[in-house]
Amino acid sequence: MDKKFYVTTPIYYVNDQPHIGHTCTTLAADIIARYHRLLGEKVFFLTGTDEHGAKVAQAAKKAGLLPQDFCDQVSQSFQNIWPQLNIKYHYFVRTTNPDHKKIVQAMLQKIYRRGDIYQAQYQGYYCVGCEKFITETELVNGRCPLHPKQKIQKQSEKNYFFKLSAYVPSLIKAIEDESDPHHYEIIPESKKREVLSKLKVGVADLSVSRAHVAWGIPVPWDEKQTIYVWFDALLNYYSALEINHQKKFWPANVHVVAKDILWFHTVIWEAMLLSAGLSLPKTIFIHSFYTVAGQKMSKSLGNVITPHQLLEKFGIDGTRYLIAANFPYSSDRDVSWQKFDEKFNADLANGLGNLVARIAKLCENSQLKFEPAKPGWDRRYQKYLAKYQLEPALKLVWQWISRADQQVNQNQVWQQKGAALKKSLQSLVADIRQIAYHLQPFVPETAAKIAKQFAGPAIKTQPPLFPRLK
Ligand SMILES: [Zn+2]
Repeated sequence: MDKKFYVTTPIYYVNDQPHIGHTCTTLAADIIARYHRLLGEKVFFLTGTDEHGAKVAQAAKKAGLLPQDFCDQVSQSFQNIWPQLNIKYHYFVRTTNPDHKKIVQAMLQKIYRRGDIYQAQYQGYYCVGCEKFITETELVNGRCPLHPKQKIQKQSEKNYFFKLSAYVPSLIKAIEDESDPHHYEIIPESKKREVLSKLKVGVADLSVSRAHVAWGIPVPWDEKQTIYVWFDALLNYYSALEINHQKKFWPANVHVVAKDILWFHTVIWEAMLLSAGLSLPKTIFIHSFYTVAGQKMSKSLGNVITPHQLLEKFGIDGTRYLIAANFPYSSDRDVSWQKFDEKFNADLANGLGNLVARIAKLCENSQLKFEPAKPGWDRRYQKYLAKYQLEPALKLVWQWISRADQQVNQNQVWQQKGAALKKSLQSLVADIRQIAYHLQPFVPETAAKIAKQFAGPAIKTQPPLFPRLK
């Protein structure tokens, strides 16, 4: 039986255009998907857009568009950018898809019948920026700490609540106990500790409907209310498979998400699934944010880095490499255009590009023939990728690059002749093949170019892989 692997990105909220943050998540998912395909597994890779909620309705109004037209436009800009980065997803899910809406309604109904939903009066503060209720204690100067410029709304309305609190003991056990049938991993470890300590403090029930948000999916038994955008959005991971008749991929092997939506993906989602009687994802992989030259990236500061800008400057594989090699794994990562330029020149133009050119030239001059051979996976590299540690996996490959470079220098290969030259070049060609093999998930076009160039038997020089940036 084929091993299956299901990887997802979050569905991106359409109030924003794609930037380096979305790119980092989607690229990580693509690298993971490619790696598992290379292992011979059947892979389903899902991405999409989240299109309901008050914030979208507001953004549409501001743009002078109907909500659906606005969603179509922004969703398209996400659908357009990923193929330009050689990101190969299988399906792009949209929460305004009528099939998705039906599945969400059916799931809410199921949880309702099970007795996990009740009606109550909600009183408190609602941040439209976050699309969530926040408590009095979370307010800073009477405002949401993440949206200090927006006035916070005090609301009082009848809502339907999901008995999230009832699932807390099961969730703690599922996270902590590896033998629990619902066990799931939270990577990295620091985020797992954060979730557990919050769960142990206690959790309030979750309001899953809205009385005054028109742009959403109606509650099936009370059409005056719409379903909370997060309840709707999380179910994309399930609805996408059902829509595509691919339920054999359930549950997800990994949901890749950024830290701002940690709670929804490590607690609320799993409680919903337990209530609905569905199996839980295997892993939630949470990454951190980018800062730009020491500052938070924001529209008002004008320092937002877009995938279009990166592509224009560094090309597809240059962009893919720079993001993976600067991956914000467990803490925020500072990047800048200058740092990107320096890394591009050091690692790609000089490091990889120079080594490949150098060895190809030596092979060509030698007129030797090289037997074709297929490398195998390196154990350490596999260990890193099993934990989604992209940067350490790349660092390992770059160690091989500098080791091969040193070997050329130490042996003065350009001066060698006869059997000594043959032995040196055979070893160096094997190194290059090994390097290209392990670069496949990260920089697929470059890896394929190198593999073709070094396939043998005759190896010839080619134009530079990464011309130096001026
Ligand atoms: Zn907020």
